Amino acid sequence: MSDDLVELRARYDRLHLLHEVDKVIHSTLDPQEALRLILEQAVMVMRAASGSVALINPNTGFLEIQASKGLPANASALKLRVGEGITGWVAVKGEPVRSGDVTQDPRYVKARDNVISELAVPLVVNGELRGVLNVDADRRDAFSAGDQELLAALAISAARVIQNTWLFEQLRLKARLFETLASVARTINSALNVNEALHVITRESCRIVRAKMCSLLMLDETREWLELRSSYGAGEAYLRKPRLSVADSLLGTVVRRRKPVQVENIQTSNRYQSTEIARREGLISLLSVPLLFAGKAIGTLNVYLGEPHKFSDEEVRILSMLAELSAIALEKARLYERVVDVEEQLRQNEKLSALGLLAAEVAHEIRNPLTVMKMLYHSLDLRFPAADPRNEDARIIGEKMEHLNKIVEQILDFARTTEPKLSAVNLNELIEEMGLLVRHKLRNLNIQFTQNLAADLPVIMADATQLEQAFLNLILNAAESMPQGGKLSVVSRAVHLPRASDLPTHVAVEFTDSGAGMTPEQQRRLFSSFLTTSKPKGTGLGMAIVGRVVETHRGKVKVRSAPGRGTTMTVLLPV
Ligand code: ADP
Ligand code: MG
Repeated sequence: MSDDLVELRARYDRLHLLHEVDKVIHSTLDPQEALRLILEQAVMVMRAASGSVALINPNTGFLEIQASKGLPANASALKLRVGEGITGWVAVKGEPVRSGDVTQDPRYVKARDNVISELAVPLVVNGELRGVLNVDADRRDAFSAGDQELLAALAISAARVIQNTWLFEQLRLKARLFETLASVARTINSALNVNEALHVITRESCRIVRAKMCSLLMLDETREWLELRSSYGAGEAYLRKPRLSVADSLLGTVVRRRKPVQVENIQTSNRYQSTEIARREGLISLLSVPLLFAGKAIGTLNVYLGEPHKFSDEEVRILSMLAELSAIALEKARLYERVVDVEEQLRQNEKLSALGLLAAEVAHEIRNPLTVMKMLYHSLDLRFPAADPRNEDARIIGEKMEHLNKIVEQILDFARTTEPKLSAVNLNELIEEMGLLVRHKLRNLNIQFTQNLAADLPVIMADATQLEQAFLNLILNAAESMPQGGKLSVVSRAVHLPRASDLPTHVAVEFTDSGAGMTPEQQRRLFSSFLTTSKPKGTGLGMAIVGRVVETHRGKVKVRSAPGRGTTMTVLLPV
């Protein structure tokens, strides 16, 4: 055969090989598997003894062996700085190196004994130098110029595969992220228990950034200390760690500056204090993002990895999203707790009011006979001879009656001081705020809650606290009349009385429920007899309070109700 023919034959063989290799390495979408296949094909085609694919880690800048063949097990731990070794040199220059005798090459760094020849070509993915593909042999001058050409061609093909798998991997991550966010959001909405929601968030934070541990710290009431609220993957040492001072801890700065902070290695960083715990628990890199609510930092969400790592913008964004969800979960729990508080307070108020009313009534009942006694006493005009001790007795009786009278007057004064403290009140805002408070409870009671608020509602002069108390009573009564669930609507509108008047004269707030309703007899006694109730835990005071509050506002309560047909309570207040 002529030399030309040999050359042609060799070229054909190479093309054929490449085609075969292409088919094999395109058979997977898994990045790690693709690299393994690429290397396997390269070593086979080159008739090499060993080889490796090393990629530049953009986070650390090191050249890391991602797949190897024929190398000792510890070779994959070999990390070269870019520029170090023959592969390192290729990773800097972007040019291939073909060495027939590495022992004569000062750049060479040994990955295994007996290597004599090495061939290394750059991996350029999407126009960027991202790694090195290299093969070794135990013979001198093992690789020809043709081999080099072939490996370079293989590297181009491999780069395409690598890029595809990376894109696919990214999409998979994104899909997973959305799945996680959706599932976390779902959990928050369904979980009554905030601890459960926070547990899911710390767990998913770990999974999504492949962290070893995740913790959520919350500010205490003084805003001076950060306390552990929830964690996933934390060991004993971390869990027993004392609270952190906001003023002088690294996580404190996250709260103070309301900005994420990351540390590549907390075990060696002097910004991180608990290095001892980090060492014991194998925590190395840290990313911490603030939990923000209404522009204020209320805590931090932190992930710790078991290796040095530079967190990408994407990772910071993901953790921030999870932090946002945490803040929502916490706020929701806080609102819920407030509802329970308010309810408790209401019961307390009802009892206090009952005592107040009772005291006033008793005082009133005492005053009348007391007045009579006083009158009679003075008309008796008791006088005894100067030395008679009864003079003194009479004086004491008079004095004690005055004392009694004073006490009675004081009690009556006190009962009269329920005068409202008036200020301009936007009823819609008040109703909306209450809606936030009761929405959760109503949903749990299976009650569909709607609001229909008039946009043109005039502002009225009123005592917001008293009105809130009255409205809350109406809502609770409505809810209690629907033990199996139902509908509750709150409607506000401007009212013109007389109808012809230009400007609205009143504001009406209507509470309509689909509950049990009331008989005419029940309705008649609704406000008057305040110690009657149809509920085992009721006080029978709620409506008495509503009646009094509305009365002191010079308003009216209208009741429309029928057994089994629900109830509408309309509160009419003057503008
Ligand atoms: P309590 O709630 O402690 O029973 P209230 O003064 O709030 O006391 O109400 C007195 C009674 O009026 C209730 O026990 C109930 O029988 C009746 N009632 C009040 N509001 C409603 C309503 N929306 N639907 C049906 N019954 C109601
Ligand atoms: Mg009540």
